[in-house]
Amino acid sequence: MYAARYHDRLNLKEYRAQAWFQSGLLCIELETEVGPQTLEWSANQIHSIVAHADGQVIVQNGRQYIEVQDLYFKTDFDRVMGPKAGRQKGFFDKIGIKGCFVGLALLIVPLILAYFYLAPWLANRAAEQISPQTEAQIGNTWAQAILATSTVDSFRTAQLQEFYDSLHYGGPYSMHLTVVKAPIENAFALPGGQIVVYDHMLDLVKTPEQLAALLAHETSHILLKHSTKSIFRAMAGRIALLSILGDFGSIAGMVAQQGDALASLSYSRALEREADQNGLKLMEKSQIPLRGMPDLFRNMLKSSPEGNSGGMSAFLSTHPALEERIQETELVATEKTNQPDTLRSGLVRIWQKLK
Ligand SMILES: [Zn+2]
Repeated sequence: MYAARYHDRLNLKEYRAQAWFQSGLLCIELETEVGPQTLEWSANQIHSIVAHADGQVIVQNGRQYIEVQDLYFKTDFDRVMGPKAGRQKGFFDKIGIKGCFVGLALLIVPLILAYFYLAPWLANRAAEQISPQTEAQIGNTWAQAILATSTVDSFRTAQLQEFYDSLHYGGPYSMHLTVVKAPIENAFALPGGQIVVYDHMLDLVKTPEQLAALLAHETSHILLKHSTKSIFRAMAGRIALLSILGDFGSIAGMVAQQGDALASLSYSRALEREADQNGLKLMEKSQIPLRGMPDLFRNMLKSSPEGNSGGMSAFLSTHPALEERIQETELVATEKTNQPDTLRSGLVRIWQKLK
């Protein structure tokens, strides 16, 4: 019989006790306030036994444990209770390596599905629900971030805005155009009505009809909420991923940096086609000769010299399959027979100032 101390961590009780072994059980008699009380712990109830070099042994059974100060207790314990007692298997031993993989798969598969399907779907829904005013707030914030590090051509910005306003493309957004000085042949649209055109792109555009086509295309990205959806999708996916990784600090940084990513945002071919076709409709409604659209694309194709990989127009890399788009828009432009032959004089005048 061993002198012991019994601890009950659940009820925060502590008693003096006697411990002994009997028919494969560890028996513990507690000296409680209401008299002796005997506990019997079987080998498989015991979670752990820890023997310290100074002879202190701690035997744990759930939230209760006993403490015995005797060098022989451990030897007795092993002999009576068997070698497996106190060496209860951990979680991973129990489920095994296969269990680990299955568990991991059960955990990860829904996350992957959420990342690739649920997040884009939710982002699309959110983009569809969002009001033009909120889109404008988002777009303006990003425009400010982008323009803060760019050189804006104020004169051409004013001219381009005037040109755009005279196109009367309509829509629920108040459109703001900005000309940025940079050797980039590209233009892009931000949610809610911001269109940024690089001055090298303006130089590449040869006729006012082509400029009207470029702006009709970018306007369509805004009206069809392509940029809003793309941003929401990109953010939803990344926010989901960073949340999974627990990297919440990066989320704030990512949202702040999203503006930069926009400048190189590329749309799928389907979205580009949609923007082209919708752009042609805007042009038709506003009495702009439709040939401006295929002419613009032809012009851009010419400006990207073959074999010069570095000279590839940025518009080409973010607006793919130009030859296909030339054919498709050419088809519409030649089918519509009731178009005006020339552009109205007001637009031509602004165009001349712009050039
Ligand atoms: Zn586009």
